[in-house]
Amino acid sequence: MTANFLSVKAAFSAPVGSELTLRGWVRSRRDSKGVTFIELNDGSRFKSMQLVVDAGTIPDETLKQITTGSSLAATGTLVESPAKGQAVELKVATIHIYGGADPQTYPLQKKGHTLEFLREISHLRVRSNTFGAAFRLRNALTHAIHMFFQEREFIYVHTPIVTTSDCEGAGQMFAVSTLNMHQPPRTDDGKIDWQKDFFGKPAFLTVSGQLEGEIFALAFSKVYTFGPTFRAENSNTPRHLAEFWMVEPEMAFYEIEDNMRLAEDFLKYTIRYVLEHCREDLEFFNQFIEKSVLATLEHVAQSDFGHITYTDAVSELQKSGKTWEFPVTWGCDLQTEHERFLSEEIFKKPVIVTDYPKDIKAFYMRVNDDGKTVRAMDVLVPRVGEIIGGSQREERHDVLTQRLHDSGLDEKPYWWYLDLRRYGSVPHAGFGLGLERMMMYLTGLKNIRDVIPFPRTPGNAEF
Ligand code: ATP
Ligand code: MN
Repeated sequence: MTANFLSVKAAFSAPVGSELTLRGWVRSRRDSKGVTFIELNDGSRFKSMQLVVDAGTIPDETLKQITTGSSLAATGTLVESPAKGQAVELKVATIHIYGGADPQTYPLQKKGHTLEFLREISHLRVRSNTFGAAFRLRNALTHAIHMFFQEREFIYVHTPIVTTSDCEGAGQMFAVSTLNMHQPPRTDDGKIDWQKDFFGKPAFLTVSGQLEGEIFALAFSKVYTFGPTFRAENSNTPRHLAEFWMVEPEMAFYEIEDNMRLAEDFLKYTIRYVLEHCREDLEFFNQFIEKSVLATLEHVAQSDFGHITYTDAVSELQKSGKTWEFPVTWGCDLQTEHERFLSEEIFKKPVIVTDYPKDIKAFYMRVNDDGKTVRAMDVLVPRVGEIIGGSQREERHDVLTQRLHDSGLDEKPYWWYLDLRRYGSVPHAGFGLGLERMMMYLTGLKNIRDVIPFPRTPGNAEF
């Protein structure tokens, strides 16, 4: 075998007449008189390569093993395809079977499996059209994210996953401990003796890299972290995961307006990138998952985001005449139904809500001159609701200390965070984008479990 090994994707643009070998998994097989057609997919693109096997070319013994799900290498000549649907096909000379797949038991036999069923076979769903498209898209999105920041002189920083500080100052963290849960060491007064634990104090999986990101922003000016984050929120919703990926830029010398402009540029850049590089996969989502995906993305890439303050948003929601599951009053947190109404009905595009009441936002957000609101910004998009949460950070030492106290937090563990406000403090801002929320927006998939390879949710951490 002297033929070239090519991916299916590369083979589609190889010259007609090339001798080559393709390897992959059989999506389907169809026999008609004197010829067998095989759809071979190797994940490199949505479209499979059609293999054409004339009767008598390969031994019956081999032909028998070619079933949906089996894996093989096919060597042959790339020829123009007489059928419509593809420009080229591979006229097969030889086939080597790597592994068979018993048609009686291979679960991906028939079309039309539900997403729920496919979730139970996450080891095989990646070989389906939907999940092939989703995870190629996720790869491209990740690449676009790095390109966006790298082109703008941002430094990529790896913030820790195990942490002893709680970013939000609120619970919902997973504990990391090596203590014996059945018989933990105790202090004289009967409490758990955390000094005997691995890190000498309680430790957790991070809920956000922001606080450490701020350390780096105040040295490198513009930075971003991009990694897994963990939240033990016991909310079984279609838009929350216990483990998800977050992109968090943090910029020194940025105020809230600069932060909003960056978030808008960032979302448009990544949308344009996937529109250009993932057309085939997006067309699949547009046809089979959500009919509005392509039109929405093309529209958003070109139009300006809406802007509204929290206070104005509350009055819009109140005078909408809708009956809400969660009634709206000034001071309440906006729920998904409110977020979606604002972006879907009022603005009909992404909208940035700013200046939330300080009591419902984290202690580190910069307090406005009114003393009641903070420089927070949430980006809301149709279908998904909140996709980005961010703020200008409180850079004034005295105000920040007061905010810690008012939030009932001990200032001691935040000594280094406060130090940043004592030595060379500057205005700074940042935001967090949930990668899976962005994926939901791009694909139209309605359950967040279908845009991450192996979802972790309450009661489930399979695979
Ligand atoms: P929500 O109100 O939707 O729960 P949040 O206010 O808790 O979000 P932030 O703490 O601001 O969210 O986190 C920043 C971003 O991370 C959010 O805008 C969202 O895109 C994403 N995100 C937050 N929690 C989750 C989760 N449990 N699963 C997936 N993505 C999440
Ligand atoms: Mn949340």
